[in-house]
Amino acid sequence: MPEVTISSLRPRVLSGMRPTGKLHLGNYMGALANWVKLQNKFECYFFIADWHALTTDYADTSNVVPNTMDVMLDYLAAGLDPERSVLFLQSKVLQHAELYLLLGMITPLGWLERVPSYKEQQENLANKDLSNIGFLGYPLLMASDILLYQAQFVPVGNDQTAHVEVTREVARRFNQFYKLNDAEVLPEPQVLLTPSPKLPGTDGRKMSKSYGNTILLTDPEPIVRQKLKTMVTDPARIRRTDPGDPDKCPVGDLHKVFSSPETLANVYEGCRSAGIGCIQCKGWAADALVQVLEPIQARRASFSEPQVKEILEVGSSRARARAEQTMEEVRSAMQMTAACETGR
Ligand code: SF4
Repeated sequence: MPEVTISSLRPRVLSGMRPTGKLHLGNYMGALANWVKLQNKFECYFFIADWHALTTDYADTSNVVPNTMDVMLDYLAAGLDPERSVLFLQSKVLQHAELYLLLGMITPLGWLERVPSYKEQQENLANKDLSNIGFLGYPLLMASDILLYQAQFVPVGNDQTAHVEVTREVARRFNQFYKLNDAEVLPEPQVLLTPSPKLPGTDGRKMSKSYGNTILLTDPEPIVRQKLKTMVTDPARIRRTDPGDPDKCPVGDLHKVFSSPETLANVYEGCRSAGIGCIQCKGWAADALVQVLEPIQARRASFSEPQVKEILEVGSSRARARAEQTMEEVRSAMQMTAACETGR
């Protein structure tokens, strides 16, 4: 495997995903496609947050490893390049746990309890007992993930800016208590807002695994076409002869993201005049999706499992080296090294 060369002069970004299984078009448009572009401008660290998977799914861990392989394959299939980015597995970099523990000492409970997703998730996942420390500490583990690499930017969608805000607060509090040679150790990261188009699932709600309405990056063409056939449309268009409105139709939203301007113009014209039927329109949307998915699926097929494991191994080793640099500064600033140093 070639040595990764990453310019340390570029600003550093870090982001990751939980290994929840195969990724879908919503993950691609909301994050991955943007990450692929960031590789040209930033020093990129992208990881699979396998410890985060345990914050809600601690009772059955049997899917963590297969899901990790799936997410990593999807990262590579989407175009993340191990020669330009550090691609790693969180649990292979134990410094995440060390920093999480140390930051836990200075983080007030109230900061974690008021993160919006804390209450929301407890309500959404009412069938799970989430009254555990791991779940409450989830935003702090996320803060540790970011601060461990002294990342300047975190690419996130609108719904995740609260997590970056907690990270900034934790960094500020750390820097108030501890300094290294009068300098701050943990920079406050900035949000790099990811432009994410509206991407509905087959039922018209936001595409999400928990709704069971996704189109996966791995779905073969017949499945994509089948899923599109069952997709909901403008509710006002009941009969073929009724005019419809693509702006009120989830299929119209897909066209806006994936279809050419010519096709989109035909959709608007044909839908509003009842000149086309929904079956035909959905066929055009499926054509556009298949065009996007084909190269992704071809790249996925070009990686073997041993290759993927090696990429994760090499990336995790590079991440460990970078993480250890930060931890040396953190330990020194907190004066947590003196007791065991013999001076020899
Ligand atoms: S023609 Fe297309 S945009 Fe119009 S309602 Fe049917 S599926 Fe939706």
